[in-house]
Order: sequence, then structure tokens, then C-alpha cells
Amino acid sequence: MKGPGFRPLLRTTLLVFPLIPIGSIFTNPSKGQNPKAFCGRPIATKLVPTDTGWKCMMTSRTHLKLGYVILDADDTLWRTQDMYDEAKTAFAKLLGQHGFVSNNAVDMLDEIDTKRVATHGFSVSRFKESLVITYEMLCGREGLPKDSKVISSIESIGDSVMKTPALYEDVNDGMRLLSRHYSLVLATKGDTSLQNARLDSSGLRPWFFRIYNLQSKTEREYREIIRDLATPPEKIWVVGNSVRSDINPASRLGLRSVLIPRGVWRYENERLERGQVITVHSFKEAVNAILAVDHLHGD
Ligand SMILES: [Mg+2]
Repeated sequence: MKGPGFRPLLRTTLLVFPLIPIGSIFTNPSKGQNPKAFCGRPIATKLVPTDTGWKCMMTSRTHLKLGYVILDADDTLWRTQDMYDEAKTAFAKLLGQHGFVSNNAVDMLDEIDTKRVATHGFSVSRFKESLVITYEMLCGREGLPKDSKVISSIESIGDSVMKTPALYEDVNDGMRLLSRHYSLVLATKGDTSLQNARLDSSGLRPWFFRIYNLQSKTEREYREIIRDLATPPEKIWVVGNSVRSDINPASRLGLRSVLIPRGVWRYENERLERGQVITVHSFKEAVNAILAVDHLHGD
């Protein structure tokens, strides 16, 4: 970037950025209140005291954001379920190679793994342990001895889901488009260190204004996010692949949402509740749907 306009913008950036965290453009804290989370974009705005409170002033031609888009991570931004499906296929194949005749091992595994969420949450180890438990139950059912070598192979299959997942191919372009108009928020669940590693390897972290790693993605947790963003629900979109974890909690709280119904496992199955929900088939379509509803343009 060259030309006379660059230096003033640089000075503004250096002055404003350390003082004002990025935040909502919709709140208007009165004097005496912490003006945190007030200006929509620190590089483009600054806070000015007025008689009644604080005023958010633009300092460049960059426009303020219209609201927030809360994005799910697994199977919305990157392909997680593919790794689990491959692991289940490998598990069934391994059992067949060791003389098991049951053809519903994966169904058993799904049932066991889903039930164990209640006691073990979305921890890294739960799936691997569920594989071993399923194997041991099948040994009992089919009268076959437990084999430590088979268990070791099963544990390796369980570890395979911790690989770095592939990004959906339309995510980078979609994030760039969305970020022109909205502050982007990540709301994910699962093991914090694993999700952090996935986020770092994805290269997407710089796009996010805030990142939440939630325990279960419940209505209560979304309510806390809304409170934290200090923004009316109608200014917030949710994009995700799960009816249970992304869409229904959003609908109950009056948020608009976009469902990309892919890559779900048994735990996430739930009836879609009444709400402002758009269903699409890709991240690109989700972005276009949001822009269209809010009367915005893409490229
Ligand atoms: Mg998901």
C-alpha cells in the first residue's frame, strides 16, 4: 500500500489498537462503563467521549461490521467426520480379518460411543476407548478370546482421528467474503488442545474476532456468547452442520442460522426445530445465503 493515505492510517492503527479491543458495534456504553467491545474494528474506528456516553468514530473508509457470524468448526470448516468414517471402516475390516462374523459392529460402536458422551464428553480418548469396549463386547458375544495385538491395532485406529483434517475447499474464499461485513466468531467443542492445533494448522485463526471452545454447545452456552458479544440476537448468524449443536440452540435464542447438513454422527441427530434456518449444501452457499438475506454483495 503506497501513497499519502497510508501514513495517517498507520498512525491511527498504532494508537487505537492497543487501547480498544475489537467488539460489538451495537452496544453504546454510557460514560463510566468500560467501553470495551464497542468499536467494530479497531483499525478503522476510535472511541470519542460525548455528553451521553461514547461514540464510535470511523477513522478510515473501511466500513463497520453489520454483526457477527458464529461458525462451527468440525465438518463446517474442515472435514472431521471423514476421518471417523474411515476409522470405523478400518475397525470393521480388522474385525473381519480376525474371525468376527457380526455385521453390525459399527452400529454397536455408534451406540456405545454416543452413550459415553454423557460421561466422557468430547474428549480425545473417548472414541478410542469406545472402539476397544465394542471389541471386547463382541469377543464375549462371539466367544472369541481378547487379543492384545488386536487391541493395539484398534487403538492405532482410534488415534487416526486426531490427524490434521482437510479444510473444505471453499472456506478460505468464504471467510474472506464474510469478514468484509461481519466479525467472525468460532464456536467449537471437543478437546481444547486438539481443536487449537486444528485451528492453527488450518491457518484460519487470524480471521476470528473471538474463539470459544464450549463443553457441549447448548442453548445456555450460546446465551453466554450473545451476552459476551453484547449484540442483539437478530444481528448474529450461526453456521454449522449439526441440528443439535448449532442450529436448534440458535433458533431457540432468536438467532438466524444456516445449516450445512453433512458429516454428522449419531449424537448430533435431532429434529429441526422451528426457526429462521436456511439449509444449503456448501460453505460457499452458506456465505451467499447470508449476504443475500442481508442485501449484501459478494465479490
Ligand atoms: Mg460440526
